Amino acid sequence: MSTAYFSFLGRLNDFLRRDQQDPIVTVQFRERQSVKHLAESLGVPHPEIGQVQVNGQEGSLHTITQDQDQVEVHPVPNGCPVEARFLLDNHLGRLAAYLRMLGFDCLYENDYDDAEMAEILQQEERILLSRDRRLLMRKVVTQGYCLRSLDSKEQLIEVVRRFDLRERIIPFHRCVRCNHPLEPVSKEAVLDRLEPLTKQYFDEFQICPACKQIYWKGSHYDKMQKLVEEIT
Ligand SMILES: [Zn+2]
Repeated sequence: MSTAYFSFLGRLNDFLRRDQQDPIVTVQFRERQSVKHLAESLGVPHPEIGQVQVNGQEGSLHTITQDQDQVEVHPVPNGCPVEARFLLDNHLGRLAAYLRMLGFDCLYENDYDDAEMAEILQQEERILLSRDRRLLMRKVVTQGYCLRSLDSKEQLIEVVRRFDLRERIIPFHRCVRCNHPLEPVSKEAVLDRLEPLTKQYFDEFQICPACKQIYWKGSHYDKMQKLVEEIT
């Protein structure tokens, strides 16, 4: 039996069991085990992990852990080196709507199974957002984030902070219902679908070419502006 000593920094401590929240976690293992495998056995999904140091030297998730190793595991630094495109796990519909309001491309269905999600991740470079650590630990996930909060607005703040999205927010240009980019449409073209007060007070409209939802700078827009202000 071999023993290694892991220390997790910053937000990675969120994943440790309460009784593990010692600065150093002792892990016993047999045979060849990577840092990734041992960190995940302690509950820390690999997409959350950034820099790894083993006995003070630079290591990686793939470093094979040796007996008596001291392993320091850092969280991924905030930021988003890839395009901010997301795939959201089931039950995250409100977060998907919020992210779309801010202009981010979010794939979300409430009934994706694991195999469908894996396929999407393989075909498209998307960041997986989930509360399911097991899902985040799957090999196919290269970029991902485990949402800590159960509240969708707090989740939005987490995502904006984690991926440093503030500069990339473009509100009012994506359909909240189906993720498609909106297109401008003339008032005449949608006149018969507008309520009398909307007709009276608004002149600029956009439409989702996929689901035909009409958008204008009415109450939705005010709510969205408020949301943007709140999170920025
Ligand atoms: Zn739509």
